[in-house]
Amino acid sequence: MVMTRKDRTEGIYSRREVLDEGERRQFYLIQLKDLLTYAYRYSEDVKKRFDRAQFNVEKFKQLSDLKHIPILKKKELIFLQSMGPRLGGLLTKDIGELKRIFLSPGPIFDPEDRVDDYWGYTEAFYSVGFRPGDVTQVTFNYHLSPAGLMFEEPLRNLGCAVMPAGPGNAITQIEIMQKLRVQGFVGTPSYLMHLAQKAEEKGINLRKELFLEVAFVTGEKFSEKMRSTLEKKFDLIMRQGYGTADVGCIGYECFHKNGLHIANRAYVEICHPDTGIPLKDGEVGEIVVTAFNKTYPLIRLATGDLSYIDRAPCACGRTSPRLGNIVGRVDTTARIKGMFVYPHQVEQVLSRFEEIKRWQIEVTNPGGIDEITLFIECSAFKREDELLHQFREKIKLRPELKVVAPGTLPAQIKPIEDKRTWD
Ligand SMILES: [Zn+2]
Repeated sequence: MVMTRKDRTEGIYSRREVLDEGERRQFYLIQLKDLLTYAYRYSEDVKKRFDRAQFNVEKFKQLSDLKHIPILKKKELIFLQSMGPRLGGLLTKDIGELKRIFLSPGPIFDPEDRVDDYWGYTEAFYSVGFRPGDVTQVTFNYHLSPAGLMFEEPLRNLGCAVMPAGPGNAITQIEIMQKLRVQGFVGTPSYLMHLAQKAEEKGINLRKELFLEVAFVTGEKFSEKMRSTLEKKFDLIMRQGYGTADVGCIGYECFHKNGLHIANRAYVEICHPDTGIPLKDGEVGEIVVTAFNKTYPLIRLATGDLSYIDRAPCACGRTSPRLGNIVGRVDTTARIKGMFVYPHQVEQVLSRFEEIKRWQIEVTNPGGIDEITLFIECSAFKREDELLHQFREKIKLRPELKVVAPGTLPAQIKPIEDKRTWD
């Protein structure tokens, strides 16, 4: 069967992707109520947490009631998992009843149960453009970490053939792609770029002698420039998925590149990183996810990733809300004078001033009071008032502005250098 580009860009995998607003709300309510009831009954840790917060499952009536459950920080998992059997009571069954157990950095154990599509990536792969009969190459690691098998299972569900290549051996990878006429790539965008470079060094014509048509990438941030470079080099569609090793799939792109459609296997909130209180649509905050997973119910897991919710309709027809791009990590975000300052917001303001080559924010606290200095590299800057005005509009802070000659800031700079001390 020959696939045309059109076949890869249309269609949906499951009816859940096109529920209308009322149906979706109802679906989330039923899934959450069921999950909370089950988890409270069978997970020792969930019972303890709900009791401590005086959260009564019986009183869970609407989605906004979820905010009464304290958020679970990812780093708490390391400690909790060491607290006794069943991964410290986080699991609702014995470890021996599972299908696989992985270990990801932390170290954190990642259990996988014996159910179909446990990690929930099948609809994501379909949305990205994988179709039955594709020959695919998975370049994620298969040992200890869940990545390799996590992305192989959905391909099996879709009816694709998988070459479990794992990472490394670029030349062998390219030879496999040539000989098997591999259509689908699964890996990081930087590894796909590495393969392109290696193949070009060997004099291979990427469009004529390789047959890639679609790439599922994840695991790192990439620029739109990198995406279009790779798409052109190979003549393929490259789309990304987003998730964690703990919960599996959280979101994925469709053909229209409108952000990440939230997976239908999870309820996602965007919350204030300190208080866990849900924010309004469009506001930037931490991604807090509750996957409908009864085996390992990580309720309100804070991922440490920052994004925002976009509910505008998408041309693909999927009705799930979307996460805007992942704009950063909670731990690289500084809180200055009580305000969160996100590097991407500063970038947005400064990108309007073409004469600024590079910038850095320095935060100090002489006498216990936060002071913020914005360094900009520019040979002759004349728009100080305009810059300070726009900075204050967007960031809600008034920095001291220091214009320095190009080349003054060190080569490797953190966007926000936090030099505050507390003693
Ligand atoms: Zn879409």
